[in-house]
Amino acid sequence: MASITLNNLVKQYGDGFPAVNDVSIDIADGEFIILVGPSGCGKSTLLRMIVGLEDITSGDLLIDGKRVNEKAPRDRNLAMVFQNYALYPHLTVFENIAFPLRLAKGRHSEAEVQRLVTEAAKTLELTDHLQRKPGNLSGGQRQRVAMGRAIVRQADAFLFDEPLSNLDAKLRGQMRSEISQMQRRLGVTSVYVTHDQTEAMTLGDRVAVLKKGELQQIASPRELYEQPVNLFVAGFIGSPSMNFLPATLEGNKLKTPVGDIEVSEEKVRVAEGKRVVLVGIRPEYFEDASMVDESKRQQGSTFTAELTHTEWLGNEQYGYIKFDPDPEVRDLLDNLAREMDADELRPQIVVTLDAASRIRGGRPAELWLDTRKIHLFDPGTGENLT
Ligand code: ATP
Repeated sequence: MASITLNNLVKQYGDGFPAVNDVSIDIADGEFIILVGPSGCGKSTLLRMIVGLEDITSGDLLIDGKRVNEKAPRDRNLAMVFQNYALYPHLTVFENIAFPLRLAKGRHSEAEVQRLVTEAAKTLELTDHLQRKPGNLSGGQRQRVAMGRAIVRQADAFLFDEPLSNLDAKLRGQMRSEISQMQRRLGVTSVYVTHDQTEAMTLGDRVAVLKKGELQQIASPRELYEQPVNLFVAGFIGSPSMNFLPATLEGNKLKTPVGDIEVSEEKVRVAEGKRVVLVGIRPEYFEDASMVDESKRQQGSTFTAELTHTEWLGNEQYGYIKFDPDPEVRDLLDNLAREMDADELRPQIVVTLDAASRIRGGRPAELWLDTRKIHLFDPGTGENLT
C-alpha cells in the first residue's frame, strides 16, 4: 500500500482551458478518495495521470514520496478496476484472477500462483466459484473477480473509473456497499471516479469535488454537505439539491421572493453591506410548522407560503413552492445556473415534509425554517459567507 501525492498537477491537451488545472491532493496510505464532478470536469484525466496513461503537463506525482511522473504504468504498481470489469469470458474465475501473475512471466511459481489466488478468493468470498466462468456470475461476483486481480498483483493502490455506471439502480446500490466493505477490509489506498454524488457521499473517506479541471473542495462527506465552500459544491452535493433564493437585508430580515426570513445577528453581519445575497436552504431545513413544538419554533422562523403541489414518497413528502422572479432575480438565477453548470434554475424551492404532514398544494401553508442552518452566498464570487 502507498500514499499518493498530487502536487499542482496540470494537464493541457490543446489551446483551450486545461483539462486538469493545478490540482493538489494528499492521499494517505489506506485512504479511500472519491473524485467527483460533472461530465468534462477532468476527473478521468486525473485518474489516468495517476495510473500513467496520460502524460503530466506540469506538477509532480508522488507515490510513497517518490516522484513517478516519468514512470511507465507497469512500473507504478497501481491496479485499475474498469467499468466493464475487463474479464475474459473463456477463462475460469481462477484463471481470470491469476491472469496478471501469469503475465509477469517467470516471476511466480505454479505453487505461488495457487496460493495467491486461493487467498484472494477467500478474502473475496469467491472460493466456491473458482471453476466457474464469468458469464455464470452475478454482477457483484464479477466485480469481486476484477478486484481479485488487483489483489494478487499486490498493487499499492486501486484506481476505479466509474465501475458501476452501467448497472441498474438496485445493483448499483448493492455493489456500492460491496466495494466499500472490501476496501475497508483490505485497507488498500483507493481512488474512485464517479459523476454520481450519492456514490461519492456513501463510499469515500474524503471526496474531492472538481469543476472545469479545478479542485473546488476536498473534505469528508459530512463536511461537504454541511459546510460547502461555494455555490457549486452546495448545489452539486445533496439530493434534492439545495435551494437558492436571492435576498436583500432589511433590519434583521432577509427579504426573499417567498417571504421574509428572520436571521441571527451573526448572519445579519455577513449580509450587511451587500446589495443582494443568495440564501442557501436545503429542503430538509423546512418543516410543517404545525408539527414543530413551541421551544423549537423560537429557534427558527415561521412563514406562510403556498405550495403548488406535494409528492408523497412513503417515508417523506416533497413540497414545491414557485415564485415569480422579477428581471433582476431572473438574471441572478441564470448566472447561478451557469456557475453550477446547469441548463436552467427554475424559480422554485423544494421542501421536504414529514410523511404525516397534512400540508397540500393550492392553499397557504405555514412552514417553519431552521434559520440556524441556512447558508449565505456571495452571488458574484459564489463563496459561502457563513
Ligand atoms: P466524463 O465523466 O464525461 O468522462 P470527466 O470529468 O472524466 O468527464 P475528462 O474525460 O477527464 O472529464 O475530460 C476533461 C476535459 O478534457 C474535457 O473537456 C475533455 O473534452 C478534454 N479531453 C479529455 N481527453 C482528451 C484528449 N485526449 N484530447 C483532448 N481533449 C481531451
